[in-house]
Amino acid sequence: MTTASVNERIQLIVKNASAGSTCSPSLAEGPWGFDAKPGYGPGASSEDQIPSDAPRQGALPQEYREATDAELHERIRAAKASLGDRVVILGHFYQRDEIVQHADYLGDSFQLANAAKAHPEAEAIVFCGVHFMAETADILSGPEQKVILPNLAAGCSMADMADIDSVEECWRQLEELYGTEPDEHGRVPVIPVTYMNSSAALKGFCGRNGGIVCTSSNAETVLRWAFERGQRVLFFPDQHLGRNTAKAMGVPVEQMPLWWGRKPLGGNSAETLTDAKVILWNGFCSVHKRFNVGQIEKARAEFPGVRVIVHPESPMDVVDAADEYGSTDYIRKAVQAATEPTVFAIGTEINMVQRLAAQHPEHTIFCLDPVVCPCSTMYRIHPGYLAWVLERLVAGEVVNQITVSDEVAETAKVALERMLAAKPL
Ligand code: SF4
Repeated sequence: MTTASVNERIQLIVKNASAGSTCSPSLAEGPWGFDAKPGYGPGASSEDQIPSDAPRQGALPQEYREATDAELHERIRAAKASLGDRVVILGHFYQRDEIVQHADYLGDSFQLANAAKAHPEAEAIVFCGVHFMAETADILSGPEQKVILPNLAAGCSMADMADIDSVEECWRQLEELYGTEPDEHGRVPVIPVTYMNSSAALKGFCGRNGGIVCTSSNAETVLRWAFERGQRVLFFPDQHLGRNTAKAMGVPVEQMPLWWGRKPLGGNSAETLTDAKVILWNGFCSVHKRFNVGQIEKARAEFPGVRVIVHPESPMDVVDAADEYGSTDYIRKAVQAATEPTVFAIGTEINMVQRLAAQHPEHTIFCLDPVVCPCSTMYRIHPGYLAWVLERLVAGEVVNQITVSDEVAETAKVALERMLAAKPL
């Protein structure tokens, strides 16, 4: 089992030494070659259609494009030392090691937003993750703090699958079908729940319409909160997290119809929607969608006794076939807590799996898909961009700032605060 970093693995792909990979060798180049073009970049699923208004990144100055890795790391370290407490660098678990080594905090999107909150003295928060994460950090951080996304083209294909216009239209149709009157238990017809992996506009929509945000760690607690207040849930954008969580709570799969944006009644009959308990938006993560039951069977055949853990953004049959499922933080803690040498087959983003393998040589840890690509948008954060935004800060200039309007931030905060107040039963 190799524990080469993802960058090294991609270099192997380029040299044709890693047979069978679906990754594009273009990933080994700096992302600036494709940042200005529409699309999620090499390695992304060809089914993912990027919205025409998705942010693009302007040209990165030549000196950063041409610098060696060693020069970039040196420049990042020097800029960081010069900025001191004025900057906090946050790194998501799915970032490449070449970025993570410079992060003050490593975590999932919500842990990182909280880390930003814990540093009111920092003038700038450099978020090495994707766009919706930087938006959440802007909502939760102080009004004077600037949140910076090193590459504006680092979006999230899943978050882009539910846009505010389509969700507003869905809501209008549901209100027409169900009305707005509560039942005899005081429960309204439907409560909107958005996954953290969504735009600030959708979090604001939930805040305005009695809804709430969830993460992959607290989805069950949040769904219980919603069912105490509503007869049904409209869950977006990730159908798999919604389905896996509700199924584990006993909701029959037949009562979880899929909503196709921009179709009348989302492509469903009125009867199906009346009977529904959870209406699932037709969104998915292209990284976790690649895991399948055949990979689990293969892992079990090759490593009898293997412990299979997958992320709940994986399809339902994969979650059913695994031994356990849970958020990135759950996976990390499960590996840390294993006291005996264990073989783990893990279904989540490759950067995180490779890092766990390197940190835990006492275990055998591998990704369920041996040739999986990294998340193509997380991969857009390259040390060249990190060096650029930090050196601009040293020079007194804020580039690539992510801001959420006060109006959206206020309502999004309501939905986030409901999530924080929701307690497990
Ligand atoms: S791993 Fe999936 S959900 Fe996470 S940023 Fe990438 S595309 Fe989005």
